[in-house]
Amino acid sequence: MLRIAIDGPGGTGKSTIAKAIASRFGIEYIDTGAMYRSIALKSVREGVNPDDVDAVEEMLSRTTIDFADNHVYLDGEDVGGLIRTNEISMAASNISKLPVVRAKVDAVSKHIASIKSVVMEGRDICTEVLPDAEVKIFMTADPKIRAQRRYDQLVEAGKPADFDEIYADIQQRDYQDSHRDYHPLRQAEDAVFLDTSHMTIEENIEAIERIVKESQDNVEIQNTDN
Ligand code: C5P
Repeated sequence: MLRIAIDGPGGTGKSTIAKAIASRFGIEYIDTGAMYRSIALKSVREGVNPDDVDAVEEMLSRTTIDFADNHVYLDGEDVGGLIRTNEISMAASNISKLPVVRAKVDAVSKHIASIKSVVMEGRDICTEVLPDAEVKIFMTADPKIRAQRRYDQLVEAGKPADFDEIYADIQQRDYQDSHRDYHPLRQAEDAVFLDTSHMTIEENIEAIERIVKESQDNVEIQNTDN
């Protein structure tokens, strides 16, 4: 089993990188943020207030979430094309602070990682979901650079983009995700710190490949020693 856990704030390119790493090692990619986003989508569709814990709990009691073959399924519906909006990013950050919501996503994530090798990315994978993962990485980048990357992506896609708004949203999400009481975003003590501010995507992938290979070599050395 190879479990590669990657945490870090939004907009670091974790999804792109994690997907590429999964394909290079021939293992599955699990995007836990997509699961929080799906729950947020359902709450927006139903007008459920994320501060009303009872209402959220009731909604969750009739919700199934799954992540397979790079697709997220909300009650059996592939919602991948609906969850990447600003509104859903913020709604996900709001609802993910609730322990009932985290328990739901954690259970799905832990189950998948118990039966197959994975690259799993999110905010609390190294600290809470897979603390025994073979490889743990904390990936971050300067918030201004993250905002610029997001802005460039939108412009390239011909979508409306306002740098100041994107930058403000990134800062707000960083703050909320790292200051919530329950399972906040933080670097696990034994995670490798990777600042990707001045890395290209290819350099970023290579850096992680090196970290994975080094950890595998270490395991082999330890096994030879025993
Ligand atoms: O990674 P992504 O930006 O898609 O995540 C959306 C939101 O879901 C984050 O802002 C965060 O609040 C929440 N999240 C989380 N724990 C994770 C993954 C995502 O709280 N493991």
